[in-house]
Amino acid sequence: MSLAHFLDDLRCSCCGALNVLWLDPVRGFVECHECGQKAAVMVDPADSLDSRWSFGGDW
Ligand SMILES: [Zn+2]
Repeated sequence: MSLAHFLDDLRCSCCGALNVLWLDPVRGFVECHECGQKAAVMVDPADSLDSRWSFGGDW
């Protein structure tokens, strides 16, 4: 089993794909399965994701 968690209802800010982001809590980053875009997550994912990834409202 992978430790990564898929993030529902999150859209990649790079390629715009929905529900393709997964969080790796061990390495502390989010990666897009569609385009491979990665973003570091330093603190609580819910807070840091908000500034790095669109939740869909801005698209
Ligand atoms: Zn992407």
